[in-house]
Amino acid sequence: MDQIIFIVILFITTAALLYSFWKIKSNFDKTKSTAFDGQIGKRTKLTFQVAFGQSKILRKPLVGLMHALVFWGFMVITIGSLEIIIDGISGSHRIFGTWGIVYDVISASGDLFAFIVLFGIIAFLFRRLVMHINRFKGIELGKKNKTDANIALTFIMLLMLSLIGLNVYEVVLMGDKTIGTYPVSGLLVNWASPVHAAGLYHFFWWMHILLIFVFANYLPYSKHFHVFMSLPNVFFSNLKPLTQLPLMPEVKKEVDLMMSDNPYADSTEPASSRFGVKDVEDITWKNYMDALTCTQCGRCTEVCPANITGKLLSPRKIFVDIRQRMDEKAGINKEDAKALVGDYITPEELWACTSCNACAQECPLNISHPNLIMDMRRYLVLEEGQAPEELNAMFANIENNGAPWKYSPEDRLKWTEG
Ligand code: SF4
Ligand code: SF4
Repeated sequence: MDQIIFIVILFITTAALLYSFWKIKSNFDKTKSTAFDGQIGKRTKLTFQVAFGQSKILRKPLVGLMHALVFWGFMVITIGSLEIIIDGISGSHRIFGTWGIVYDVISASGDLFAFIVLFGIIAFLFRRLVMHINRFKGIELGKKNKTDANIALTFIMLLMLSLIGLNVYEVVLMGDKTIGTYPVSGLLVNWASPVHAAGLYHFFWWMHILLIFVFANYLPYSKHFHVFMSLPNVFFSNLKPLTQLPLMPEVKKEVDLMMSDNPYADSTEPASSRFGVKDVEDITWKNYMDALTCTQCGRCTEVCPANITGKLLSPRKIFVDIRQRMDEKAGINKEDAKALVGDYITPEELWACTSCNACAQECPLNISHPNLIMDMRRYLVLEEGQAPEELNAMFANIENNGAPWKYSPEDRLKWTEG
């Protein structure tokens, strides 16, 4: 009977998860494509270094180590979750137990990491709820974002508590016949009552797997979706120098058309009618992937000179806004009068960027903000004719004098005279 109930719940969980992934895929379908430049070896190395190795997170030794341990712990514990699912379907008990010493190593690491992750999560909750760290504040982080972070951390805490309960009662129930090794939970068995041990084992088993199912379905709607997205996002990182601005194919096309007979006559590429980025349809799939991956940690905003000096710009907000706007457009599923630039991100924010790239350099998930900010500015200038006064003067000088200064080209060498 337990097996049938489990299979039905697993079916509902998988269906709900697939529905969420389908919705995300339709959002990706709205975005623009970009050419993939290969470099698989370099990308794989980067993924091991930055995503698995947590190299950027570890720049802050204490908090970085806590986060890295939670991440590594999660990866080890995932193997245990897979086992629970197979046990649930087949009615077996710790099916990977036949792996012998390998299973002992995996179960012992899983047990150790359950405690490490638990303490790490309690510390993270303490930082958020009691210490009120500056990095977790900002106009882009409303009550909903803060509640989301606390819900996700509470989920992980309960997951670890149920896993520890499961391990403790495995030892209490099975005694000498315990499958696997539980070095830390094993120390707690003296405090665990042997009365109702079987019932409590089942209770923790069901609690753990149901939490996994609910949490998996919560993730696509949470900032903690980075659990799924961080690896592919780092793999598809921008490998070019951070300060290298991509060319605008739309502008190149316009110039080509002016210079020669239509060289695009035979092209099958859909014509783009937009210069720069106005709304979420103009961003690339990688920009949207960045938005889904953003953990809202605020490391980018913390180092942003514009933000530090009191300007309106917060680089984190760019990706929080993209995700919100995409969700909003998916909800209405048709054109509305709003746009990402203007209604979510103001020109004042965009023009505050110094393009220093500190944000992209600091982001632990290799998310790139400045190129996107530049594309939004390009839209403002090329389509709306909106540029700050100083830039308008410079544009006029370039047009009239061929240089950004207000002097005529004939006068340029006057400084050499005398
Ligand atoms: S963009 Fe990167 S650094 Fe900024 S909040 Fe998101 S994950 Fe953190
Ligand atoms: S590139 Fe722009 S957004 Fe990023 S840190 Fe520098 S000023 Fe801030």
